[in-house]
Amino acid sequence: MFPLSSDRVALRFGDRTLTHAELAKCAGTLAHQLKGLPRVAIWATPTIETCVAVVAALRAGVPAVPLNPKVGERELAHIVADSAPANVLAAPGVQLPEGLQSVPRRDVTLDGGEVEPLPEPGPEAPALIVYTSGTTGSPKGVVLPRRAIVSTLDAVAEAWEWTAQDVLVHALPLFHVHGLILGVLGPLRRGGSLHHLGKFSTTALTEALTDDGTVMFGVPTMYHRIAEEVGDAPELSAALRAARLLVSGSAALPVRDHERIAAATGQRVVERYGMTETLMNTSVRASADRRPGTVGVPLPGVEVRLVDDNGLELDEPGGVGEIQVRGPNLFTEYLNRPDATAEAFADGWFRTGDVGTRDPDGYYRIVGRKATDIIKSGGYKIGAGEIENALLEHPSVAEVAVTGEPDDDLGERIIAWVVPAGATPDASDLVDHVARLLTPHKRPRLVRFVESLPRNDMGKVVKRALRA
Ligand code: ATP
Ligand code: MG
Repeated sequence: MFPLSSDRVALRFGDRTLTHAELAKCAGTLAHQLKGLPRVAIWATPTIETCVAVVAALRAGVPAVPLNPKVGERELAHIVADSAPANVLAAPGVQLPEGLQSVPRRDVTLDGGEVEPLPEPGPEAPALIVYTSGTTGSPKGVVLPRRAIVSTLDAVAEAWEWTAQDVLVHALPLFHVHGLILGVLGPLRRGGSLHHLGKFSTTALTEALTDDGTVMFGVPTMYHRIAEEVGDAPELSAALRAARLLVSGSAALPVRDHERIAAATGQRVVERYGMTETLMNTSVRASADRRPGTVGVPLPGVEVRLVDDNGLELDEPGGVGEIQVRGPNLFTEYLNRPDATAEAFADGWFRTGDVGTRDPDGYYRIVGRKATDIIKSGGYKIGAGEIENALLEHPSVAEVAVTGEPDDDLGERIIAWVVPAGATPDASDLVDHVARLLTPHKRPRLVRFVESLPRNDMGKVVKRALRA
């Protein structure tokens, strides 16, 4: 899966580093100890040890379940019962919660010498079991075969012109696809380097990019912070200007943030669209037109189609339908959930639950999630994202989420949850702003001002928490 032979730095976390050759030794040694276990869990703190544990499990052919170190008791109990790990791998000295006491612990150390490489498991062997972010329901364990990981990493490398010379900078958690598969396994597969910032700050980012970082991966909340600060931060602006590529994913990047960053740095953030079950589906190409508000075109090897409510494929550009995906990037199954697995597919196509459109030149746009972002109001189907982007263009709106609420007359009525930028604006100003910018039927019927929006650890707004 990885070359792991050079003396170049593979991983850098704070002032600790590991070269590819060193990683091969310590992960290889651990792999020999894990060999034959049915499954392991990894306490995925943002550390070198987590990366070593994942590489060791991959080398041993033992399916690994990365765990969020901030996981709550109930969710942990569910994951432990669901995935039944034989061991939990953790960095030495890190305390594990009660809920893991029943699982034998194995410390991950960085020692190890030359060992015989183990035979490489086949392409369909389960490699990782990653739980979804739980944005719309409780997290499901997604079984990812090696084939899906390898094909997605090679596809994005092509789209992003990612090479061994690149130093990737990020501060993402290591228990989801974004931070772990793209963010750790990506640089290792390329023979390049990862510099993990620990906690995200624009200061740490500036330093890392000024030092030797070439590429940044982030979620929209991070790009929002950058957009807010970059106008008054010449060093941040210069560091971003000099970077080779900035990539955003996990949720929609507001057009306003894309534009503000472009205006201050000349960098147009490249947006890609993926999910735990499918890894990466589409992306804007590094070398192509980097349009805001789109997630680009299907990645090499991936087929994407739009399907209407009757299950018919939409051929004409501009139609709005569910995004369905087919290709080597797909997962095998939801762990212990044959029902959910069967439901997720329609004639071999994975039903993403996301709704989108396609421009005439093949660029996809995400309208929102079927479950939470499509509001059926007054006979219209309205995407929350369009209204959110419009509201963000109003100077007194800092953050916003749009939801639907049952309404006797309209079916659903549009609600805007607004975090004001400074003094609370007049609700009617915001409503008029949307009516003027879009069309009157897309205006919110109610504006609720809130101090903050409920977000999960990927910075995604949890709309079901808002509605509760
Ligand atoms: P759960 O499935 O548990 O509700 P989740 O869907 O948020 O959680 P993930 O698999 O981490 O868990 O996230 C995938 C989803 O993230 C996609 O289905 C899509 O809705 C959203 N997403 C990812 N990238 C983008 C993007 N660039 N623009 C808009 N949405 C995105
Ligand atoms: Mg999902």
